Amino acid sequence: MIKNYPLFINGEFKETSNKQDIINPATGEIIAKVSLADNHEVEAAISGAREAFDKGAWRSITLEERKEVILKISKGILDKAAELASLETLNNGKPLKESTFMDIPSSAKVFEYFANNLKELLEAETISIDSQIANAESRLIRQPRGVVALIVPWNYPLLMASWKLAQSLAAGNTVILKPSTLTPLTALELGKIINEAGIPKGVVNIIAARGQDVGAKLCSDSRVDMVSFTGSNQVGRKIIEYTSENVKKVIMELGGKSASLVFAESDIEAAVNGSLCSIFLNQGQMCTAMSRIFIEDKIYDRFISDFVNKAKRIKLGNGLDFETQMGPLISESQRKKVAAFVEQAKKDGAKILCGGKIPEDSKLNKGFFFEPTVIANVNADMAIFQEEIFGPVVCVGKFSSPEEAVSLANNSNFGLAACIWSKDDQKTQGLAKKIDAGSVWINTYGMFFEELPYGGFKQSGFGKELGKEGFFEYTRLKNITADTTKGAKPLVNYWYGF
Ligand code: NAD
Repeated sequence: MIKNYPLFINGEFKETSNKQDIINPATGEIIAKVSLADNHEVEAAISGAREAFDKGAWRSITLEERKEVILKISKGILDKAAELASLETLNNGKPLKESTFMDIPSSAKVFEYFANNLKELLEAETISIDSQIANAESRLIRQPRGVVALIVPWNYPLLMASWKLAQSLAAGNTVILKPSTLTPLTALELGKIINEAGIPKGVVNIIAARGQDVGAKLCSDSRVDMVSFTGSNQVGRKIIEYTSENVKKVIMELGGKSASLVFAESDIEAAVNGSLCSIFLNQGQMCTAMSRIFIEDKIYDRFISDFVNKAKRIKLGNGLDFETQMGPLISESQRKKVAAFVEQAKKDGAKILCGGKIPEDSKLNKGFFFEPTVIANVNADMAIFQEEIFGPVVCVGKFSSPEEAVSLANNSNFGLAACIWSKDDQKTQGLAKKIDAGSVWINTYGMFFEELPYGGFKQSGFGKELGKEGFFEYTRLKNITADTTKGAKPLVNYWYGF
């Protein structure tokens, strides 16, 4: 029987009459039905979250109690890890190996990390001022922002939700989480875990809803203090517009067109294998995908021959099969978009070195599969070089000097991440400084740690997630200052001279 997933609003699980079918992208089958929120449910979620914040149900408990509840969420995820991993794969298509070893444990870890560190992160700082005109003693304190709307995409459904929830909750906020309508299942399961962890009513609300139906209300309402968004630039721009109505804090984690630079002195085998990961993991549906790989001319032929041979051997299949190395794309419309980019590239004169089409294997014909694709003869004017494709498609090119490599990498409106493959430490450190991207990985890819702030430059967005700086985005910094001028007479006392 097909399972129904309700919304989680103000401490209650609620069904609505408006239901959406949830599809397994590997088979095209309906796997669940989800209740969709409209503005009526958004109103209930906003007022629930507002009341829970204003009446202090969450921020007024001790930090030790807050920590314990968040640790229970982490444990709840681990207790259901196998179930959540299968559900993520069923709903998103990613190989079970990825959901089992990356998405689910990393989701549990981020709650654990911010629970264990929230006290230290929220510690007040004291600043003593001793100027020629006055003395003062100031305390800097960090308080929650209030009600935070968390809007997440479909590529890492549980993980993106967990990043935002863990930081918001650890900081003392109340939240409304809006997962993508394509992949809401693990977020709604997380709602049950959060409820069982004993979170007070209204602190966490989870609503599956179409962005175009509820985005304007959710983001512009004056009772919502902050919007934390991860998704496309197109939607990001709309959210900036909605939030400007009542001027509020926004963070934007947007798209990318990241570049990987492979130098002749690199460990070429590691660079090839790492580069395969950097574009084909999660079917290339990663914001940090290295969708442009530039190789030093001396090793170009050797690198490309190895890279293309290995790309052809990647095993496509249903993600639930543990042997599968690449699953389907998220939807038919995403596959059409990816195929259109490849067709455009061909018309523009680029050369397809492998892939570029829907696989012929009849076992795959019900899902939204697309072959790992490598494209050469590309130049910076082509859409394939400049635009985010969000699929298993990489363009490759060569460079003959470090300066040229940096200039190619920076020739993009995006600035999310970059990779450098080289054994020359001095060179990699120097180049990393010149690359216009928020994360630069040296001889590796995708190093995400709870301790490290992550976020893009240029049109890849603004604001950080994770680390101290990411956590601070979900807080407001207040300075509380007392005049401590000797003689206990503050300077302002003399201003009018009475
Ligand atoms: P998307 O922008 O289409 O959707 C993201 C979320 O916004 C979804 O929950 C969607 O329902 C919601 N939404 C859509 N229209 C809305 C509206 N008018 N108002 C409010 N919310 C609305 O993105 P996607 O297709 O789900 O995900 C892919 C994109 O996400 C890519 O561009 C990728 O680069 C980006 N992404 C970025 C990061 C990062 O950290 N920078 C991480 C993951 C994904």
